[in-house]
Amino acid sequence: MTSPIASVPMLDLKRQFNMIGAEMNAALQRVNESGQFILGPEVKKLEENVAAYSHTKHAVGCASGSDALLLALMAIRAGKGDEIIAPSFTFFATGSCVPRVGADLVFADIDPVTFCLDPKSVEAKLTEKTKAIIVVHLFGQAADMPAFRKIAQDYESKYGRKLYLIEDSAQAIGAEYDGIQVGNWGDASCLSFYPTKNLGGAGDGGMVVCNSDEIADRVKLLRGHGMAPRYYHKEIGVNSRLDSYQAAILNVKLPYLDKWTEMRGANAERYEKLFAEAGLQGAVVVPQKVGARRHVWNQYSVRIAGGKRDALRAFLQEKNIGSDVYYPLGLHQQECFAYLGYKPEDLPETLKAANEVLALPIFPELRPEEQEYVVASIREFLA
Ligand SMILES: *Cc1c(COP(=O)(O)O)cnc(C)c1O
Repeated sequence: MTSPIASVPMLDLKRQFNMIGAEMNAALQRVNESGQFILGPEVKKLEENVAAYSHTKHAVGCASGSDALLLALMAIRAGKGDEIIAPSFTFFATGSCVPRVGADLVFADIDPVTFCLDPKSVEAKLTEKTKAIIVVHLFGQAADMPAFRKIAQDYESKYGRKLYLIEDSAQAIGAEYDGIQVGNWGDASCLSFYPTKNLGGAGDGGMVVCNSDEIADRVKLLRGHGMAPRYYHKEIGVNSRLDSYQAAILNVKLPYLDKWTEMRGANAERYEKLFAEAGLQGAVVVPQKVGARRHVWNQYSVRIAGGKRDALRAFLQEKNIGSDVYYPLGLHQQECFAYLGYKPEDLPETLKAANEVLALPIFPELRPEEQEYVVASIREFLA
């Protein structure tokens, strides 16, 4: 007899630690004994491992996913007078890197099915000043990269100037479109190792992966204060190095990533089946894997229409069921971006998604009976 479920966590990293804790502790001990805590052999090994995993030529570690985005923009020399198009329905760091380099941030709307940037909305925002598009593979599903490649190619023939594609793959390590992994579609791709990401460290960490020698070299230079050789600074970089501790933990975890991704996918399938069996298809719109993509399910975001999302979330909270809202506001609605002059309804799909989405627990070690309890509770609320 298993005891009845009393709570379901949104994420429980202790279950992962119970499986691989000994390996993680041993890796940290190796770092302690080496006396090398910043960059060093563990980071070099992780850079090689992630490049091999991503099928990219380069991977350069840095302090966070947010810094990876900033460094990518610095590497392509984005700055004053440049416009950079990004989605508004994303985590803050996707947008904040743009004003940080002095460029103008332009928001485009999302596709309502994938929650990713809508190529048609982007096309309408292109001008002769557009320098880059930041494409986010939101929740773990690749955006429509063939369409963005075509936009970049057409732009280059029309304006005779390169249009960069920067991938924000913070939620999407291992995701694919047409069998080609994220990181290989754009000019540079940014990973995050924040603990809630599919490959999460024991603190902050990030990486830029790319196939361009020039971008990789520039990220390496810029993450270390633009210093080469030692104490000689060609330009102003930042301090954004990856810790050996983080790299050691991530080197332990990376070989498990595909198995964990499969478990996330199985959980997504189970939710879909459970919601269908509960007769909730209309009231709860489950996320879809679209076309020839490999979804890695960093989040399982359903839509709850009819203005009931927040009441449902409160109801689940009372039952100790974890859920979260990614994201309650579009970036265009944030106070710090008010100076850009957007009205909420300027990006209707972003506004709608922000009001409707609810992320349910999807982490690999989530148990089937916990998912049954989540769905039964949602059914109880909606009945
Ligand atoms: C997590 C995340 C980031 C930032 O990564 P950090 O490592 O937390 O700085 C950027 N973009 C998206 C879409 C994210 O989910």
